[in-house]
Amino acid sequence: MPLVTLTTFRTTHDANLAKAVLEDEGVPAFVADENVTSIAPYLSPMGVKLQVADGDVDRAEGILNRISGLDVAERTTASAERAIRHPEQCPHCGSPDVRSTRRLLGFLISAAFLFAVGVAVDQLVMMFYLTLAVCIFFLVASPYRCADCGHRW
Ligand SMILES: [Zn+2]
Repeated sequence: MPLVTLTTFRTTHDANLAKAVLEDEGVPAFVADENVTSIAPYLSPMGVKLQVADGDVDRAEGILNRISGLDVAERTTASAERAIRHPEQCPHCGSPDVRSTRRLLGFLISAAFLFAVGVAVDQLVMMFYLTLAVCIFFLVASPYRCADCGHRW
């Protein structure tokens, strides 16, 4: 029965992994790595072919699709984790209109205002402590705000 190239892998390692999975499922597979040079045995410029017998192609493709499906699931999990770190949706109402609050700008404006008031009323020491309090407030302030419902988190 003639061999059919099922897919091409970038490295011998990946091809051998897929071969092992196929053979574990009872499909004899062959890695055709005649293009591999002795200088870079794991990185073939032509790719490493994974071949199966003509009659096994459908089954082998099904198995490989299942493996790549797992890969996709792992990538989806990774992007979900990124979304938690950088929320794009309000956890309260689900609105995508999320603003990150401009904490530094707010602090600078407040500090400048307090300093001006301190100069005007000749109470610089009191204003220094007020500025300190405002600084702490902005440090603990929620970094995200929903533009739709005003929810902060
Ligand atoms: Zn909201």
